[in-house]
Amino acid sequence: MIGDPRYREPVRSLRCERAREWLSLRLDDEISEIERLLLRRHLGRCTECTAFAESVQAVTDVLREADQQVPQCDFGIETPTPSRAWLRLRLGFALVVVAAGFGALAGFLTSGAEGPGPVEIPPQIAVLPPPAIPEEPELPEPPVPEPGEEPIAPV
Ligand SMILES: [Zn+2]
Repeated sequence: MIGDPRYREPVRSLRCERAREWLSLRLDDEISEIERLLLRRHLGRCTECTAFAESVQAVTDVLREADQQVPQCDFGIETPTPSRAWLRLRLGFALVVVAAGFGALAGFLTSGAEGPGPVEIPPQIAVLPPPAIPEEPELPEPPVPEPGEEPIAPV
């Protein structure tokens, strides 16, 4: 009985509590190296935790080696299936969304065919003169061969 002075709940130390958490992590291969070393050290000194570790490891091994069982009986748990009306409503909503998307796409494409409206040019840009293009320097006239001479071949 709880409250009976003759009954004493076994009190484990905090080290034992922590060691049992590490045991669980070790079973799932999620323990760090430092935790593994500390656990090994604790198990070397604590017979209760060593017995617990062997027991938990044995149960875990049996469970992992056992075939996964598929229940043969029906537990009567039904997954709710949506009603036909609800499916029709969802289908209708999806069609509206698709139609709106196509409408937006068509509007975008046809507005591009007409071209954008007239572009307002700010006055400070409109009054700027075109950039000056430097004129080509005048090249000397090529020598005209005198009649009777051979023309000079271009180099
Ligand atoms: Zn312990």
